[in-house]
Amino acid sequence: MIALRQNIAQMAGYVPGFQPDDVASYIKLNTNENPYPPSPQVIQAIATEVGEGLRRYPDAASRLAREEAGRLYGFDPSWIIMANGSDEVLNNLIRAFAGEGEEIAYIHPSYSYYGTLAEVQGAKVRTFGLTESFEPEGIPEHYDGKLLFLTNPNAPLGFTFSQNYIGDLAGRLSGMLVVDEAYVDFAEETSLELVRALDNVVVTRTFSKSYSLAGMRLGLAIARPEVIAALNKIRDHYNLDRLAQAAATAALHDQAYFLDCVAKIKETRAWFTAELKRIGYRVIPSSGNYVFASPPDRDGTRVYQGLYDRKILVRHFTDPKLSHGLRITIGTKEEMERTIQALIEIGPGQ
Ligand SMILES: *Cc1c(COP(=O)(O)O)cnc(C)c1O
Repeated sequence: MIALRQNIAQMAGYVPGFQPDDVASYIKLNTNENPYPPSPQVIQAIATEVGEGLRRYPDAASRLAREEAGRLYGFDPSWIIMANGSDEVLNNLIRAFAGEGEEIAYIHPSYSYYGTLAEVQGAKVRTFGLTESFEPEGIPEHYDGKLLFLTNPNAPLGFTFSQNYIGDLAGRLSGMLVVDEAYVDFAEETSLELVRALDNVVVTRTFSKSYSLAGMRLGLAIARPEVIAALNKIRDHYNLDRLAQAAATAALHDQAYFLDCVAKIKETRAWFTAELKRIGYRVIPSSGNYVFASPPDRDGTRVYQGLYDRKILVRHFTDPKLSHGLRITIGTKEEMERTIQALIEIGPGQ
């Protein structure tokens, strides 16, 4: 018998979105990847890095990438930490702020991985629900949990919280407010000003969605230098390899390419949303690179299966609050046209 820690033995573990072996035979709209390739400057930067220099350790501070991010977002690099995927920095925030038996919280539905990370740490997990109009339910006037994770834009639903609401919420917490802005590049507003103004707000970002770099594992966080210094103590000292650092710096630098991709996705999102409504689906207006939509008969499983049979992969959640619909990533216009065609074939149900 192996003597695992209790919490590890008991926890279920996170199940990431399905990645099929024969990925090329699918229209893959299930993990919010970007349909466009990374910037040519990113490919070039990685290629330049491949060579004899790989025998040397990378820069432990990811200095060039942090400087590039600092210029772009208007922060001194001491306010920025690079991460091996934003999942890494979410994990390290829990390790920095929530000890064993202490509480963290997040909104349900949102990104359930926060809960998994907290379970590994032995922290307690609390969730706050949402009203019909997408307001968090039941957060005490003064909440003393160590961390509250707010996914903004919300995933999988796609709506956003106002900056007024987020600022007020931060003032009600004795712990940290982590605004997970994984999808903010597809939205209109960011909480970066709140990071500057309030001492308990952290913003996390990822390169996996808007920068087309899910395969590189890159993210970052922006927070007060004291918070960044704590996170630096916890992370692997060489958390970003040389290729990842080169990719991050080039991706942030090539804003023209990035803005063009984001604009195309937003345009396709508007078109796809209108088409879904035209065929009778309920669609939540989305600020992400996905939409959450429900068929007329509110049977998400039926439509998931119908799309799967036509080699179109989307995300269906069995959670009772989400099982009536599907989260569909915005791909290219052509992929979304084929998806609408498939949904018409599948029909409204009943
Ligand atoms: C994709 C996603 C992440 C993880 O991003 P990585 O950088 O790929 O680890 C974090 N939060 C949310 C809400 C996401 O959707």
